[in-house]
Amino acid sequence: MKFDKEKIKKILSGVIDSDNVININHLGGEIIIDINSTNPTLKHKKELENRILDNLKKSYSEEHNYKLNINVVKPTIPQNANRLDNIKNIIAISSAKGGVGKSTLTANIACSLKKMGFKVGVLDADIYGPSMHIMFDLVGSKPMAVNVDGKSKMSPIESYGIKILSIGFFTNMDQAVVWRGPMASKALNQLIFDADWGELDFLLVDLPPGTGDIHLSIMQKISINGALIISTPQIVALADARKGVSMYKQENINIPVLGIVENMAYYQIPNDDTKHYIFGKDGAKNLAEDFKIPFLGEIPIIQQIRESADVGRPLSIDEDSATAFIYDEITKKMITFLLERNKNLPPTEILKIKTMAGCQ
Ligand code: ADP
Repeated sequence: MKFDKEKIKKILSGVIDSDNVININHLGGEIIIDINSTNPTLKHKKELENRILDNLKKSYSEEHNYKLNINVVKPTIPQNANRLDNIKNIIAISSAKGGVGKSTLTANIACSLKKMGFKVGVLDADIYGPSMHIMFDLVGSKPMAVNVDGKSKMSPIESYGIKILSIGFFTNMDQAVVWRGPMASKALNQLIFDADWGELDFLLVDLPPGTGDIHLSIMQKISINGALIISTPQIVALADARKGVSMYKQENINIPVLGIVENMAYYQIPNDDTKHYIFGKDGAKNLAEDFKIPFLGEIPIIQQIRESADVGRPLSIDEDSATAFIYDEITKKMITFLLERNKNLPPTEILKIKTMAGCQ
């Protein structure tokens, strides 16, 4: 059979966007196809490969040998309608309860994104219990003022190439932040709008636990592309996580939940394969299934995670650790669902109401 490039192109266009087909060649009896894919997960790569080969065998020819080179490329993430024009994606990271590992997840996802080549910022909106200044080894640092178009703005502090702003830069470590809602909202406003964030692919917003004033305040100001929810597997944490999911799903809030992460899923004694499900098993996974929300992965209890958070060097900044790999995989899945969300849904509208029953 004569090599028919156009026919192959047409068959491929039924499986993958034609822009992603880079080259089709016939060499030494083999048909070689180079393809770009923006989805970084191995699972997707395998599925794409199978779909393409099935289609070619069915609609082109059974007898040829096909060689597929699938190149994973960095996605161009479309601009979204935030009031912060230079920030392409704002992701809220939330938990219903405190102490379940939300800030640790935020810091590690930020580092995974940075490793992938994205421009990343972290806004520590956990006004009453900030921790990003600790997790990024910035205790005692103070943001500098810069002049932007005649206006004085705060310059986020960079650590490991990630831009950070936290209320923790302005408070004493031993001092409790005792602010009423409006004061906290005002401080947050400054961290968001009186800051020179520059261009970012991602701004991760580390929200306080629960579903309260600060959440509403943020939703009234910026258009959040999606939210991640983290929970530990025990019943009391899950009950609150349900409330968190319900908040995002409320008709007038309507922020897509990109996924749920289960933290402290189990503990393994070093050099022993047995997994000890200290807080229960699969709780967050089941919650994700109930709500038909993607489950992004489980993170075991690992001493190193706690240690690296305490010394201010998020573990996932390093390339070659098995634990960094867990955060990297969660981040890749988050990107996959974010791209889907940005493609299929309009930008999230900024919340218009002042207060809301059930969210206070
Ligand atoms: P939150 O932001 O939800 O209050 P943190 O991220 O501050 O929670 O985590 C609470 C504590 O648990 C921190 O000391 C952190 O280092 C630790 N931690 C979080 N996740 C893990 C984990 N998977 N394994 C071990 N320690 C963890």
